[in-house]
Amino acid sequence: MNQLLPQHRLQNRPDLHSLAAIGLRLAEAFPHLDLGERLAVACEAIPGRIVFTTSFGLEDQAIAHAILSRDIAIELVTFDTGRLFPETHEVWEATEARYGRGIRALLPERHALEAWVARHGINGFRASVETRQACCALRKVEPLMRALNGAAAWVTGIRAEQSPERAMMPFAAVDSEHRLLKLNPLLDWTRDRVWKFVREHAVPYNALHDRGFLSIGCAPCTRAVAPDEPERAGRWWWEQPEQQKECGLHRPGDSPAHQK
Ligand code: SF4
Repeated sequence: MNQLLPQHRLQNRPDLHSLAAIGLRLAEAFPHLDLGERLAVACEAIPGRIVFTTSFGLEDQAIAHAILSRDIAIELVTFDTGRLFPETHEVWEATEARYGRGIRALLPERHALEAWVARHGINGFRASVETRQACCALRKVEPLMRALNGAAAWVTGIRAEQSPERAMMPFAAVDSEHRLLKLNPLLDWTRDRVWKFVREHAVPYNALHDRGFLSIGCAPCTRAVAPDEPERAGRWWWEQPEQQKECGLHRPGDSPAHQK
């Protein structure tokens, strides 16, 4: 299954000032639109490639449905870290089967990963925050850089209620690190609203969600959470809460104030 995109999507992306202006307009429009409309309007407004990175979590499945069911010209990319749950591969396969469109997979750079494992051990990410972040950098962040190379915009499944850091993020703003427009079309959705959408549209979802997993990443670094725990408490649970439950894909600080 190939992802075919219109030729104009492959042209060079606009400059950051143009993207910032587009982002402001989209951020004003999003509150008045449903999810599919948000993505379609973004696709109309942004002249370059748009990439949606999915980990097949609940939010990402809602966005994937909105893109694939409307055939919106947004690329779907996932990162197969080598440590995913079998259930994640199952929902990946089910999604491709349901919509008849392939999802591009990026794997870690082999030589760098082999060297890291040789030095730190297969589960060396538990030794310190630094080794954990280095593992995430190899398995997720470097492939993300490849996925976003040349893109004009990046669509994510971030919601404000997931964490205090995510609550500070806008609907759309220039991401100065990746030099593109970052779009968070589910920012104002609650988890209940995402579930309602997924059920109404019979969207395939990760079976781990039925077993208490809210945010799903790599198998050795994700556990189920109790009903009263924060959404991302199951990620790297052996670290202190103030050590931020992020893998480096999404950094706090992407806000209109950073539109440079
Ligand atoms: Fe490595 Fe865990 Fe990060 Fe996955 S989540 S890349 S296994 S540290």
